Amino acid sequence: MSSAVSTTGPDATEQAGAALAARLKPGDVVLVSGELGAGKTTFVRGALRALGISGPVTSPTFVVGHAYEGASGPVNHLDLYRLAGMGDEDPGLLEPFFAPGAIVFVEWPEHGPGAWPPERVVHRVHLAHAGGDERSIEVG
Ligand code: ADP
Ligand code: MG
Repeated sequence: MSSAVSTTGPDATEQAGAALAARLKPGDVVLVSGELGAGKTTFVRGALRALGISGPVTSPTFVVGHAYEGASGPVNHLDLYRLAGMGDEDPGLLEPFFAPGAIVFVEWPEHGPGAWPPERVVHRVHLAHAGGDERSIEVG
């Protein structure tokens, strides 16, 4: 099942993330793609809030990921942007983020294909600029 919405501000994009989060279960992996500034981190922030994470949720651009404890288990947020061009990066580096039962959101999945267990991917989200503060969000 796939759906598409458009939002006119960050709050609505957070709400879209929260709506998706309500459908997740432990162990699920969600890939979140889109250009810089398209709202990937904003979407994930809404999802993490809905999963019971209350502290700041910022882009893990300068580290590969952030690990959180949600209301019903671990929730991890990865940004693979910097993996681009690193060639044979040790795949074990990311493994702890994919511990069984952890819900994982992955930004820039195209920079690290194969970094996640494929059978755990339940949704692929794509965000795109649609002029000004408008963004289109496809959830597949
Ligand atoms: P990404 O992770 O894709 O690089 P971010 O979520 O970090 O993007 O940043 C998106 C930026 O765009 C934020 O500054 C946010 O406030 C702004 N913004 C404006 N309109 C929207 C919208 N409709 N949805 C999401 N972000 C928006
Ligand atoms: Mg981001």
